[in-house]
Amino acid sequence: MEKITIHILLVEDSPTDASLLKQVFLRAEQQKWQMRHVERLSEAIDIITKNQHRFDVVLLDLHLPDSTGLNTLKEYRAAIPDIPVVVLTGLDDEDLALNAMTEGAQDYLVKDQITFQRLLRAIRYAIERGEILNQLRESEERSRLSLEKEQELNELKSNFVAMVSHEFRTPMTTIRTAVEIIEYNNHKLTNERRAKYFDQIQYAINQMLRLLDEILFLSRTEAAKLEFNPTPLNLELFCRELVEMVQMSAGNQHNIIFSAQEECIQAEMDEDLLNCIFTNLLSNAIKYSTSQSNIWFDFVCQDDIVIFRIKDQGKGIPLKDQARLFESFYRASNVDKIQGTGLGLAIVKKCVEIHKGEIHLESQQDVGTTVTVTLPLHSLESH
Ligand code: ATP
Ligand code: MG
Repeated sequence: MEKITIHILLVEDSPTDASLLKQVFLRAEQQKWQMRHVERLSEAIDIITKNQHRFDVVLLDLHLPDSTGLNTLKEYRAAIPDIPVVVLTGLDDEDLALNAMTEGAQDYLVKDQITFQRLLRAIRYAIERGEILNQLRESEERSRLSLEKEQELNELKSNFVAMVSHEFRTPMTTIRTAVEIIEYNNHKLTNERRAKYFDQIQYAINQMLRLLDEILFLSRTEAAKLEFNPTPLNLELFCRELVEMVQMSAGNQHNIIFSAQEECIQAEMDEDLLNCIFTNLLSNAIKYSTSQSNIWFDFVCQDDIVIFRIKDQGKGIPLKDQARLFESFYRASNVDKIQGTGLGLAIVKKCVEIHKGEIHLESQQDVGTTVTVTLPLHSLESH
């Protein structure tokens, strides 16, 4: 069986003690080792922190030119917590050695009594203990992270429940009120008024259905169950039709100006996901702009990517909110009474990621917002 080389750093200022130790090692036949020798604590710390080279164990004399006694060990541990250390002491320093053990040394060796067997045992024991301690530290770190993640998830869940109940409560209350009015005052209502209440009911139901759709969509993306079906499509035609649809529902309150670069009309993308991306972005541009303002939607191609841009002159987004907009349910602080659930951009981001694309948002409050979506032109090849 091949022997594993042990890399040792000896920190010892006495040349006699150092050469005695090296002599002991020279007698070693059953163990491969490599030793580096330095005389000062600062040199040792320097070598370990700056050097790529990894040591398995450090043999540390506590009395050095730049540090003495327990301080030597404390300084060493503060700088290098994860490489095991065996302390070297003189005959009369047993107390110091025991104190060193409580300060984190894995073992100690009394210099005049070092035999090869004792040295090897101390080193192996130190390495083993060091490894166990490192594993313990790592598993502690892992548990801390997973605890944090769980707390974050719990918080997300309760936010989600609070948000969903709130978002459902408003349309449901509208429906209940409208139904009660129709039920108890039916005989007094004009046809026109009755139709108005039915419209309100219809609107509230649609609002709830939309919310449900968004939540289902998001949960499908979270569970990685969303299908990705890129098909060949004429990008310009696709976008034109989409703009027409959005323009129709926006009425003449907003003007969407569309332009496309003709050379890149042939693409392979998932139509449903593309639809979801641009309906959401255009509806945001409309929703957060005053009426009669312009919205620009265009795309250009560069090699095998296409860059879409949606630009509005709306209310913009405060800088402090911009980093979190893609999180579910996050809404900027300047939305006032404009309705929304804060799910749109989270969904858009997922759709972009499924396409292996990128999304960027630039915005200035009271000036406007520009969203840039970059997608590979041909998704069929990369999947
Ligand atoms: P919905 O889920 O109905 O789309 P929403 O529009 O509030 O709700 P997102 O589309 O995710 O949610 O947008 C998140 C937030 O980002 C919005 O609440 C708004 O504050 C801000 N925002 C997004 N787009 C724009 C824009 N074009 N102009 C100004 N603010 C915007
Ligand atoms: Mg939106």
